[in-house]
Amino acid sequence: MEVQAAATIVSTNPATGEVLGELGCSTPEEVQAAVARAKAIQPQWQATPVRERVALLRRFQQRLRERGNEVASLICREAGKPTAEALATEVLVVLDATEFCIRNAERFLREKPLPHANPAMKSKRGRLVREAYGVIGIISPWNYPFSIPAIETLGALVTGNAVVLKPSELTPLVALELQGLFLGAGLDRELMQVVIGEGSVGAALTESAIDKLIFTGSVATGKRVAEAAAGRLLPVVLELGGKDPMIVLDDANLEVASSGALWGAFMNAGQTCLSVERCYVQRSLYEPFLAKCREKIARLRVGNGINSEVEIGPMIHARQLKIVEDQVNDAIQRGARVLAGGQRLSELGPNFYAPTLLADVSNDMRLMQEETFGPVLPVAAFDTDEEAVRWANDSNFGLAASVWTRNRKRGETIATKIKAGTVMLNDMISCFGIAEAPHGGFKQSGIGRTHGELGLQEMVQAKYLDADLLPRMKKVWWFGYGTAYQQQIEGLTDVLFARSWIARLKGGLRSAGLLRRDKF
Ligand code: NAD
Repeated sequence: MEVQAAATIVSTNPATGEVLGELGCSTPEEVQAAVARAKAIQPQWQATPVRERVALLRRFQQRLRERGNEVASLICREAGKPTAEALATEVLVVLDATEFCIRNAERFLREKPLPHANPAMKSKRGRLVREAYGVIGIISPWNYPFSIPAIETLGALVTGNAVVLKPSELTPLVALELQGLFLGAGLDRELMQVVIGEGSVGAALTESAIDKLIFTGSVATGKRVAEAAAGRLLPVVLELGGKDPMIVLDDANLEVASSGALWGAFMNAGQTCLSVERCYVQRSLYEPFLAKCREKIARLRVGNGINSEVEIGPMIHARQLKIVEDQVNDAIQRGARVLAGGQRLSELGPNFYAPTLLADVSNDMRLMQEETFGPVLPVAAFDTDEEAVRWANDSNFGLAASVWTRNRKRGETIATKIKAGTVMLNDMISCFGIAEAPHGGFKQSGIGRTHGELGLQEMVQAKYLDADLLPRMKKVWWFGYGTAYQQQIEGLTDVLFARSWIARLKGGLRSAGLLRRDKF
């Protein structure tokens, strides 16, 4: 039976259940029409000097700076994270990503000469041109409802593309606020459009005439998107889930590593693609580390993030909470020790789960293999560096990882062996806030990159432009073949690639007639 697409979606506050708004969903025809309008105006935007596109980004940046608190408060109400966290990990990160585009777009888009080494090609001048795709479709999740679509939109626009964004059905109001900031900065309305709705609207966008798709979400949806895109060879970037390991070596600073583990596992109630989902601690530090974490968890304040004293907000919805609960219960049944949390906090509201510390977990538990996406810190002990690397790599995911040590060389040796898109030493997640750092995964964590120069690279197609400087000369490799020509080409091959000077010289003599031979 075909499931009827929803006509409206309701945005609610996950901390209170309060309805924030009801919005009509875009029909497939409306999605196509939005893309057609974007396509019609995009060439004009692409022809606009980069300087002017950069100026628009500057105005966007100023408006966001002025309205930052309102934006953060809306993120808190619609996605549940504390307002201060929304300011730090979304608003501030986007201001900085805008600065990156402002500073680097002109240099990045400048044509790059590609000098030819081969003497036979010396009469040509080649260069690399970076050309906008056209219309970039963006499909985004709810957990970073502002920064993810904002950073992708900034990169798309500054390189000359138009954007059609399909935000998560759980956070449409934040997406509309983002659109408002761009329009308020003077962007033509057709260059940044938002289509609203559930997954079916995302599917309609994937099937529309967009020229590239940047998708961020779960592995399961990412695979469906990739299948749909393959049918028409639509280029896609897939930013998918993670199961990031944190490796704490025996020479790590215990105080710092335990605080890092807490923030890494519990910020945004653990609903971060880069959050610490598995923690491996070297045996001599294992019990002291657990004791520190336990003591610090007792000080964490859980509640409605609109209250600035709160550190951990609600989970996004009951379904996500149930996934976390099932994984934790499964781990407990299989021998994990609960040192903190391990249950709902129903007295705070329907979607609250206590920050949970589990010890003695093992890699064969669901909790250590499936994405948990909740406030859970599962910890296991390891003995040798090799064992830590083996366990860290024992995963279908490969988004990021962190290694905690006072010995940089030892940490970097481990980092080179970990299969992940990012490895940080003595920190985690903050790579998302480093505007220059590319973001993306190995293995099932995705394809392609967003952020930084590699992120800009995803927004453009490379075009090679070549001009021959001798337009009145027929080329030596054109028709008019024969025995003599074959010998001349053999000679040329020797001139270019023979090892000895004598062979090169002889080759030169044999190829001498090349320029003079008859061509047609
Ligand atoms: P999701 O896969 O359920 O949804 C993501 C988006 O895809 C939503 O907008 C949804 O409406 C849309 N969608 C659903 N079905 C679709 C279809 N058939 N075709 C096209 N679009 C469709 O993910 P979510 O629950 O919103 O987000 C959480 C997931 O996102 C986690 O797995 C998390 O790790 C991942 N994530 C990854 C990154 C990253 O940068 N790698 C960042 C944030 C979140």
